[in-house]
Amino acid sequence: MKPVEPTREEFLFFSGPEKALFYFLAYLCLAYLAYQIVGRVRLWLQGKPVDWYKTRTGREYWMPTKAGLQNWVGNVLTYVLAQKKVRSSRPKSGAPMHLMIFYGFFTLFVATTLLAINTYSPFKFHKGTYYLAYEMVVDVMGVVFLIGVAWAAIRRWTHLKDELGQALNADPKQQIQRRRWPMSQSANDFWTLGLLFVMGVTGYWLEAARMSAHPEPFDWSSPVGHLWSTLQGPYGPPAYKFVWWFHMVWVFVFFCVIPKMRLRHVVMAIFTTAGKSDRPMGQLKTISMEEVEQTEQIGSKTAKDLSRWHLMSLDACMECGRCTEVCPAWNVGKILNPKQIVQDVRGAMQSGAELASAIGEEALWACTTCNACVEACPVLIRHVDVIVDVRRNLVSEGQLSGSAATMLRQTASTGNAWGQSASNREDWMKGLDIPLCRDGVEFDYLFWVGCAGATDPAAVKTTRATAQLLQKAGVKFACLGKEEACTGDPARRTGEEFLFQEQAQTNSSKFEKYGVKKVVTTCPHCLNSLKNEYGEFGAKLEVVHHSQLLQQLVSKGALLAAKPKRGEVVFHDPCYLGRVNEESDAPRDLLSNEVVEPEHTRHKTLCCGAGGGRMWMDDHPEQRPSNRRAEELLATGATTVAVGCPFCRIMLGDSLKQARPNDEIRLLDLAEMLHQANGAE
Ligand code: SF4
Ligand code: SF4
Repeated sequence: MKPVEPTREEFLFFSGPEKALFYFLAYLCLAYLAYQIVGRVRLWLQGKPVDWYKTRTGREYWMPTKAGLQNWVGNVLTYVLAQKKVRSSRPKSGAPMHLMIFYGFFTLFVATTLLAINTYSPFKFHKGTYYLAYEMVVDVMGVVFLIGVAWAAIRRWTHLKDELGQALNADPKQQIQRRRWPMSQSANDFWTLGLLFVMGVTGYWLEAARMSAHPEPFDWSSPVGHLWSTLQGPYGPPAYKFVWWFHMVWVFVFFCVIPKMRLRHVVMAIFTTAGKSDRPMGQLKTISMEEVEQTEQIGSKTAKDLSRWHLMSLDACMECGRCTEVCPAWNVGKILNPKQIVQDVRGAMQSGAELASAIGEEALWACTTCNACVEACPVLIRHVDVIVDVRRNLVSEGQLSGSAATMLRQTASTGNAWGQSASNREDWMKGLDIPLCRDGVEFDYLFWVGCAGATDPAAVKTTRATAQLLQKAGVKFACLGKEEACTGDPARRTGEEFLFQEQAQTNSSKFEKYGVKKVVTTCPHCLNSLKNEYGEFGAKLEVVHHSQLLQQLVSKGALLAAKPKRGEVVFHDPCYLGRVNEESDAPRDLLSNEVVEPEHTRHKTLCCGAGGGRMWMDDHPEQRPSNRRAEELLATGATTVAVGCPFCRIMLGDSLKQARPNDEIRLLDLAEMLHQANGAE
């Protein structure tokens, strides 16, 4: 007898009317799904057109350019298929569990698509060796998927208990906010996970029922279904059909409810990651005066003022909480919860409510713009864009008061965020013979000192050490001295966009006047603005952090690296260097890589709490991010904390003293350590 070729008959035992009923229900379901999708698309289209979808003439286009399309494909491959962000998150964040669910689900999705192509197209490939391999892969990945789903449910249950415990111990003012997250999320989560689990298990039951009703010699290629079928015994056609319909009901429910569940991120993540902006993490979007004249407002008041991409990205949120887990403000008990912000803006997109009241002003001002949430988000949501744009609106309406408002006034009147006069910017130079641009000296690097570097007593030590190292290594550099003015970074991130733009124009004109091409700075906030944001104001600069230039000088042999004792030094990565500008090797190289690493390190560093204008805002003593970071740094057992940012130095200085009033903990900038290693007295 000729052996039977392995394959599977679709709609086994089904009559014509039964098939017609299936198609009727399937189309009904898909129509409902399409109706919901149209509703969501309408909400996204309220937003502003997205720049990178526009043609050169400014006309909005439905597709990006060819180069844009390549980016789309690259982003989807990197962030969706390769799961870059999920893989790089900590195992504690449930990364392995998520990967099991994703790759299990993805395999089942591809398998179903292939089956549909085989059934509804002239190409009949679902047979022979291909069929056997197909069945084996689907069966194994189905188990991976179910283990991932069960793991997620257990994890959610454990977290729910922990979160409720924490919420009950939290500040009473925050209890409502903190409770709202676990309770609302958990109900939705258990329903979602339950649906996935039922679909997976009934899928196996259906497979087993087919084998019980219509056994074939090649059923071994689906080991799970085969074992189940052996255990349950023979089935007649009615029993098989019952299981078929039972499974299909859950599949129909899945398609009807997916837009309402956070599971929608499976689809939405593809669109969000594909269309993500090429704008670097540290670059905020510039507002033009024409835009203000047209809209008669600054920043975002309602969801309509955000871009369509931003609105669409809200629907991609999987509510995983990774953003909140890493938020320095949330972690010291503040009301700011980036995940909740995404949900609040999503709610405002539907209701039309004002964003500031939907999010809450206290939460908006608590953000340090450290970008930890942006870095952690698997679907690339840009929380900081939204927060700063709402701040812009609040500032334009006079809703900012206190010391941050004073900082803005000082920057506007003196060009220094601390209100020091321009003449003080040269005080740090005493006894060092620093070349000045205005004297017509030739230079390769402009040494950009910054407001803190020029006037804060601790930061001045860094500035002097850096200048002396550059002199020792023979680098031709010059400073602007009293011609230098604040980059405008604190103003921009506090929400005063046009003050930033004035500063950027003033400084850019100086760069042009003196032919500045390369800049070195000790401040990562200045670095970020000059490197990522000044380009729009005509300053095309090559900007490096002092650790990067010093690293080059060490590798050329012009300077010696520091050689701290093992276990003695811990390096605190500044957010705007390690995360936002992706430099974490240079500082370590300067210390001969003899550093102990704290829990949060490199691009996953923990913010000191100074960014986003927070340096000029008060914190409750119990809610200082710098205290938490200081504890973490000290937990390494190090006795020296090395820094690479004047802001971090100011914030950590107080916190280290408070944490160890009786211990001799040294707080030094990398430049000072290198200066000592190179013979400083
Ligand atoms: S915003 Fe991103 S990181 Fe935060 S909960 Fe949503 S998907 Fe997760
Ligand atoms: S930028 Fe930092 S402080 Fe602001 S919400 Fe994100 S993680 Fe929190």
